[in-house]
Amino acid sequence: MSEKQRKAVALISGGLDSLLAARVIQEQGIHVEGINFFTGFCVEGHTHAIRKKDQAKPKRNDALWVAEQLGMPLHIVDIVEEYKDIVINPRHGYGANLNPCLDCKVFMVKKALQWMHEHGFDFIITGEVVGQRPKSQRADTMPVVAGESGAEDLLLRPLCAKNLPPTLPEREGWVDREQLFDFSGRTRKPQMALAERLGLEDYASPAGGCCFLTDEAYSRKLADLWQYRGERRYELDDVMLLKVGRHIRPAPNFKLIVGREEGENRFLEGYRKRYVAIRTLSHPGPLVLVDGEPTAEDLELAARITARYSKGRTAAEVEVELSDHGGEPWRRTVEPLAPDRIPEEWYL
Ligand code: SF4
Repeated sequence: MSEKQRKAVALISGGLDSLLAARVIQEQGIHVEGINFFTGFCVEGHTHAIRKKDQAKPKRNDALWVAEQLGMPLHIVDIVEEYKDIVINPRHGYGANLNPCLDCKVFMVKKALQWMHEHGFDFIITGEVVGQRPKSQRADTMPVVAGESGAEDLLLRPLCAKNLPPTLPEREGWVDREQLFDFSGRTRKPQMALAERLGLEDYASPAGGCCFLTDEAYSRKLADLWQYRGERRYELDDVMLLKVGRHIRPAPNFKLIVGREEGENRFLEGYRKRYVAIRTLSHPGPLVLVDGEPTAEDLELAARITARYSKGRTAAEVEVELSDHGGEPWRRTVEPLAPDRIPEEWYL
């Protein structure tokens, strides 16, 4: 009787590590399928697709690209709602910014475990490497992810397996431990060498986190949102908008989101019915959304800031159009605010 075909589900972020992990397990004759979790904070594809200056970079969903390279199915799972609790109340706290990496890993492995059982798969693979990330990938936190997720020894990390106790797939001989790796630490060289050996090129930037929560500027904007809302809460639209434009908060009750270029203006256009929106008429300029509860006086200031970011910034007057949540627009003529009247601390 032939051996049962073993099946593994691989967590795919779109980065190099998860790509390599899936590939080395495929090479051992295991059937591998990928799973990618959409949290709303994911980096891949999004900003490149919006911003003109990034147009030279390939506009692709890196997780899908990885799946294509490996010739494996990819399951994209929307976890936006459930993930909120991880971001808002991480049991293990945050990393350097608002990144709840350890809780996030536990949660994703737990979801993958559930998926594994539902689909009759045998084990889980991740691209984690001991010592690579200060919080979630330390020698002492690797067992936390395996334990708290409930995956225990069904969780195999092919890139650093030799530094960890043998997992069930290794003990059962489904995979050959000898062909796995002992990578550790922050260096990316072994991964790059392995990629080369496997003939993989053009993979997504190997450094950095897999989501915007590791980004300092992004986390600052999220913290600002929570502070001025008076509660730690967010919707998907909020987290998408934090990725786009220049964010300026002149007062606690309102902030401006100023499109920095054509692509961002177009993106913001999709949100104009949910905010007060300002655009310039007499000169080319940005689309600006006003978030919060601005007074008439605040809107005057917002219109002057909008004028400052238009081609009419040095003109005596700029005509602008305002609309409130997609309602009947009205026009104003304003004097652009001089740049030195916009204090540094207004910029988020
Ligand atoms: S960088 Fe973001 S997606 Fe990656 S583990 Fe940390 S919180 Fe999760």
